[in-house]
Amino acid sequence: MHEISIAQNIINQVDSFIYEKQLTTKVKKVHLKIGKLACVIPSNLEFIFKILTKDTNLNDVELAILEIPILCKCLRCEINFGIKDEGFICPQCQSFDIEIKNGRELMIEKIEVE
Ligand SMILES: [Zn+2]
Repeated sequence: MHEISIAQNIINQVDSFIYEKQLTTKVKKVHLKIGKLACVIPSNLEFIFKILTKDTNLNDVELAILEIPILCKCLRCEINFGIKDEGFICPQCQSFDIEIKNGRELMIEKIEVE
């Protein structure tokens, strides 16, 4: 599952953060920004993160996931639009010539410590 490697990656990043800052207090919360195009199911990610961090120094860490909607720009008529189920097509001029501006994010925004 895709979420396992993502959860592992988050753990690695938090661990290096702790190491670099030489933190002696506990990490409380990790804020994530996840675009809809990253194909991550937040509840799956939270579940796997919990399993992987069980019995580690990160066992009480909570994930706060902010889902970023998909935002596109039409390169022909230059309007911005969100994507729903109709696919990647401009709702105004029906062009497929579009640029994806938001929705691919997958990153740690902030790490909260005690
Ligand atoms: Zn257009």
